[in-house]
Amino acid sequence: MNIPQQGLSKEEILSALRSFKTRDMDWKGGRVWGYTYNPGAESAEVTGEAYMAYLTENGLDPTVFPSLLKLETDVARAVIALLRGDASAVGHLTSGGTESIMLAVKTARDMARVTKAHITAPEIVLPKTAHAAFHKAAHYLCLKPVIVEIDPATFKVRAEDMERAITENTILLVASAPNYSQGVVDPIAEIGAVAQKHDLLFHVDACVGGVHLSFMRKLGHAVPDFDFTVPGVTSISCDLHKYGYAAKGCSVIMYRNKDIRRFQIFACSDTTGYTLINPTLLSSKSGGPMAGAWAILNFLGEEGYMQIVNEVQDAAKKLIEGVNAIPGLRVLGDPAMCMFSFASESINVYQLADEMAKRGWYIQAQFATPLTPRNIHISVTRGTSRNAEALLADLRECVETVRSIPPIDSGNIRTLVNAALQSPDPLAAFGQLAASAGLAGSELPSEMALINEVLEALPDEVCNMFLVNFFNELYA
Ligand SMILES: *Cc1c(COP(=O)(O)O)cnc(C)c1O
Repeated sequence: MNIPQQGLSKEEILSALRSFKTRDMDWKGGRVWGYTYNPGAESAEVTGEAYMAYLTENGLDPTVFPSLLKLETDVARAVIALLRGDASAVGHLTSGGTESIMLAVKTARDMARVTKAHITAPEIVLPKTAHAAFHKAAHYLCLKPVIVEIDPATFKVRAEDMERAITENTILLVASAPNYSQGVVDPIAEIGAVAQKHDLLFHVDACVGGVHLSFMRKLGHAVPDFDFTVPGVTSISCDLHKYGYAAKGCSVIMYRNKDIRRFQIFACSDTTGYTLINPTLLSSKSGGPMAGAWAILNFLGEEGYMQIVNEVQDAAKKLIEGVNAIPGLRVLGDPAMCMFSFASESINVYQLADEMAKRGWYIQAQFATPLTPRNIHISVTRGTSRNAEALLADLRECVETVRSIPPIDSGNIRTLVNAALQSPDPLAAFGQLAASAGLAGSELPSEMALINEVLEALPDEVCNMFLVNFFNELYA
């Protein structure tokens, strides 16, 4: 569009905005098993109003807006208490899990520059199941990610494999509680002991699990220790905009003490402008996400969260049992909470996801790795839990549909991909291949199975290059 010569009316604007959503998937109807964490209409209204009440206030300067200092410290303290930090633990609100992780990694890097100044090529040790945000942080911060394979039966990393990956350049160990892909918790206590033995920082990524697992523990479920009670854990990330059911744009990054946290904070007085002091990545920082998070914690209270966790765990248990009972499907690992994935030896799960999409369900394809099979991820939330039976019924039917339609010839696709790899201009050859699979230009694809096949068959670096090109074309 161009900026209109004359402004539009509020009604015109809001009706246009509503109309843009017609091709979006139906998250309000509880059919999107990822990306959205719907707390229910009443809670959403409270967070929405709280968000709007602080939309314009700027967290940039706590002396001008002490209200935002209060909101941020209130929420951080509440989450530190939930994750059983003691009086020395500290934390900040960030825009999301990625920013929390980026900051934990930057803090480790900057602390090592002082405390381990001999290290010139710093490394961070990551399980294969660690979130891509750690790779992004390593990329942005010029660190080397050292990837540790997981046990393919449990999808957990082994503490001894983490220890073996430590070198004189290591500055940080990472583990997940749980990992996003399979929803299993790494052996945090054992890795904490390794971190202490080697005098290393240890970040626990509880982005998706911090809130939900803590309330599961309070409800008496068997939850492995993953929080500040574990010796050796030095920082934790916990997203409120996931299972905290806050509005998007809110995560917490926490440190065991201020001696570590100080390396996160950036100050600059070397310009003609105002002196800048930024504890987090953002500088101008809307109060909206903070107020939204403050509101939902207070609106739900411990009882509200525990009721949600009960509902969601019931649905997750039903789904995991139900999926395992469908011939040909198999849940991977032993999921710790309400996120899980399943694979199949007899049908193509990418085709299954497409068949489910035709019925309005979004379930998430995850690629195979050298040790693990391609699979479908499902996150159960308050917004989707009521549809567990309906999802299972359609899954059962769609598995039969996939058995009855022509299977994708994965072998043939690998042959085509390998031929493209040999061609003089591999990227152009992949472009053609992907276009024939339905991925080209600035159009969004409607079916993903073939595209997923092609992308999965590509070597990681070529796949990444291809995806960068695709987004480079897709956006303005
Ligand atoms: C979602 C997630 C992240 C990244 O968080 P964003 O809020 O999407 O930036 C990191 N780690 C885990 C385990 C996650 O589930």
